[in-house]
Amino acid sequence: MTDPVHALPLPTPNAESQAFWDACADGRLTLARCTACDAVQFPPQNSCTDCGGATGAPFAATGQGQVFTFTINHRAPGPAFADRAPYVIALIDLEEGPRLMMNVINCAPEDVTIGMAVRVTFEARGEMALPQAEPA
Ligand SMILES: [Zn+2]
Repeated sequence: MTDPVHALPLPTPNAESQAFWDACADGRLTLARCTACDAVQFPPQNSCTDCGGATGAPFAATGQGQVFTFTINHRAPGPAFADRAPYVIALIDLEEGPRLMMNVINCAPEDVTIGMAVRVTFEARGEMALPQAEPA
């Protein structure tokens, strides 16, 4: 077992997010749409943040988006991130509307720009996978 101080953190799925994380582990990014007003919801939840309506079944997102804003983190927040710094923490606007925080990977941090086209890729962490962004 990996020392928890040196292990990258994992999300803690709950009843509302378990299906989302299961899909990520299969390499699929899913979103859900409100059955009443069509607003696309993220993070996964049972009721719409716009109108309180019920969210429908998850659908596959395109995984296409663009960088809304970002920062380059030069100081690892703990030993688990020591090999990663510097790395990019970004807000990504998905084509479907939701804005997700992800790392931009598979490119040099200094090559990331606001408005840059990205696509979602997945970073395996044990049994789980985290959605991350890479240049499109
Ligand atoms: Zn709604």
